[in-house]
Order: sequence, then structure tokens, then C-alpha cells
Amino acid sequence: MFGFWLSHLTLPLLGLWSSQPRSDVGDSPSLCLHSKTLERLAECLEEFIVPRGYYDRVSYNAAQPDTLQRTAWSNIISSLLHVDGNCSSIQVPIPLKGFYDVVTFTENTGASFCVFFELTADCHAYRKGWGAMIVPARREAVSRNVHISAPHPGFDVGTPAQAAYIFKATGSKSLLIAGRTRTAFLNPSPCISTPSLSGYYETDPAPNNREPFFDASLVIYDWQQRRGCPSSTCAYIQMHGKGSSTCPLDQIFLSAGLGHSSTSKAWYINSNDRPVKRLRGHLQLALPLWNVSLPPDSSCALTATRNVVGRYINGVNEHSVCHTGAGPSEVSGKFIHVEQDDTSRGAELYMMWAAAVRRTFGTTCVEGMSVDPNTGLCAYSRPRGPAGDPVFDSVMFPGLSRSVRVQWLMWVPLLNDL
Ligand SMILES: [Zn+2]
Repeated sequence: MFGFWLSHLTLPLLGLWSSQPRSDVGDSPSLCLHSKTLERLAECLEEFIVPRGYYDRVSYNAAQPDTLQRTAWSNIISSLLHVDGNCSSIQVPIPLKGFYDVVTFTENTGASFCVFFELTADCHAYRKGWGAMIVPARREAVSRNVHISAPHPGFDVGTPAQAAYIFKATGSKSLLIAGRTRTAFLNPSPCISTPSLSGYYETDPAPNNREPFFDASLVIYDWQQRRGCPSSTCAYIQMHGKGSSTCPLDQIFLSAGLGHSSTSKAWYINSNDRPVKRLRGHLQLALPLWNVSLPPDSSCALTATRNVVGRYINGVNEHSVCHTGAGPSEVSGKFIHVEQDDTSRGAELYMMWAAAVRRTFGTTCVEGMSVDPNTGLCAYSRPRGPAGDPVFDSVMFPGLSRSVRVQWLMWVPLLNDL
């Protein structure tokens, strides 16, 4: 069993994405729609991310949405969340017409998605760069009220494709990808910026609430909250990537947006069930030789306490996110900030990641559907499957009987304390 894991860990995971040539998609993001899978589509669209140092003050201000465009942007994000069966039923609001569109994308598996994306680019860079949003085309294709995002395309290399795979393989509700690299305008963020915090730039949606990614995140959160977001089935997951020299002891470092204060550490350690803790447990189970850490386990500073989306999800008022941190008493654990090294982002671990997320969150199938034991997703006309997730089990426990798996699972909490 350990040999199986070791063989996975020693696979040449590095550079799987960076060595791939840029696809020949000219200057039209629409050509990305010829991609065969959703993760390849995300990878193709990432090629149009507004690159480092692209903006000055004038060009950045010109690329930002005006008031009408910002309202239209939020409205269409909401429309996408409501879609059920017909992507073309979504009317692109007039302020966005001509440079954004919603299209149906059907990948080679037959799964269909509504893709909201920017049509316009100059020299392979989006003219606007506000981002892209993808949802399953039909409500019945949603198995979990999980919302996944990639705030740092072009910088946290590989995260858009990884997020896209996890989104589709878990039957999640939405995928949001930013449209500019965080360094596109190298001016300090007016929202969260101090001389001691280098790297907090104006085009970084993590520390700036004026980036359209923030508006979209609020719409997604508010839409879901109105329908209920039980911690057993629902969360908002941001996928990031760190360099190998940053927090080098942690292959994966998860945070709920709380850091290293004593009250924050207590939040992670207490016995309350929280999505971020469950995800940590399942990832650690799948990767027992890795450090999958939470703030009490590691001094890693990537705790996302200044992430404006995280602060909002954690109960901070929309208008206070630039200067007010979240308090442990308000934090539900439904904001999950994933930091990970490059091996964790490799395509070889896509299935493991998706299985861990499926394990972390129960399904919310529409009436008449139940969990397909082969996929862990909602399906019609299948007998109700066991509580387990066979895909996950086959990755985790190849060749082991169910009773042995159950015994092994009983020991996992002890492993986590080692
Ligand atoms: Zn990041």
C-alpha cells in the first residue's frame, strides 16, 4: 500500500503544464472553445490573462468597469447561477455586449457547461480582463453546492486547469477565474497595502475589492447563502499555488482565513466540524507522506487573513473588508484557502483532489437522482450507492476489502496527530 503511494509521489510531476506549448489560438479567446475538456479550456483561456506590468494608471482605469458595466457584470453572474438547461437563455446585458458572451461548451465526456468569458483580446491579452465564470448547463448536473475559484491565473501556475477539473469532477456549482495576473498593474493595492506587504498589487483580487473578481464572488456567495449553505455540503474554495521556497515544509497549506493568533489556532483545534478541517483530513489521508497543514500545524504565513473575499465570507461587511479582519467567532470554515506547491497542482493528482473534495462534501441531488457509486456524482436511474466514494476508495485503498478500509479509516485521526 505504501509502495503504491510512494510510486505516486515519485512520479515526475514537475513542469507538466509549463512545458506545454501555447496553443495556436491567435488573438481570439473564442477559439479556446475547441478544447476537448474543461481543464484544457481553462488552460487555453489562461493564455489571455493580462500579463505582468501591462497597465499604467491610465490604461488600468480605462480597463476597469464603469458603474453600469459593474452592475451588468454582477447581474450576469447571478443569471449564470440560475441557469438550467439553456445557456443561450442568458441575455448578455447591453453594457457587456460585444466583449463578453455566454456560450455552451460540451466537452468530450458529453458534459455541458455555460461559459461566460471575454471575447476581445489585443496581442494575446484580454482588453478588459475581468475574468470568466463557468457553471454546469443543467441544474441536475450539480451534485454539490461547492464554488471553486482561481484568483491568480498566470501567477499560481496551473491553478485554473486544476480548479476546472475539480469543479467538474465533483459536480460543483460554479467556477470563477480571474482575468488579470496579480502583477498586471504593479501599483500597490489601495485596499490592503502597507510598506511591509510587498506583492499586494492593485490588480490582485485577493487584497483589492475593486477587482471584478470580488463583485463576482459576492454574487456567488449571496446567491448560495439565500438557498442555504450547510457546512456538510457547501463551501467556497480558492485554489492558489506557492513557490517551493515559500513554506517549504508544507506541500499543502489550508486556511479558513484565520491565522496564528491563539484564538484562531483554537478555532482550528477545537472539536467543531468544519469543511476546511474535513478537507484537510481527506487530503492527509490520501497523501500520508506529505504535510497537509492548517495554521496550528505550521508557521506558514499564507493564512489569507487579508483576503477580501475570505473576509466577506467570514462575516466582515462588504464595505469594511479593506480594513477589518474576520474574528474566529464569525468564521464558519466555508471559506477554504488552498495553498499548494507545484507537485500538488500536477495533472496526476487531479483525481485525488477531486475525490478528496467529494469526500468532504455530501451531495445535494435534485429529486429523483441519487449518487452514482461509480462517479460520486448525482445521476438518474442508478441504485443508491453506498455511503463511500468508490473512485476515492480505489485511489486510496487499491485491492483492500471494505472492512479493512473501515479499520484503516479509524486510525487516520491518529496519523494526523503525528
Ligand atoms: Zn495565489
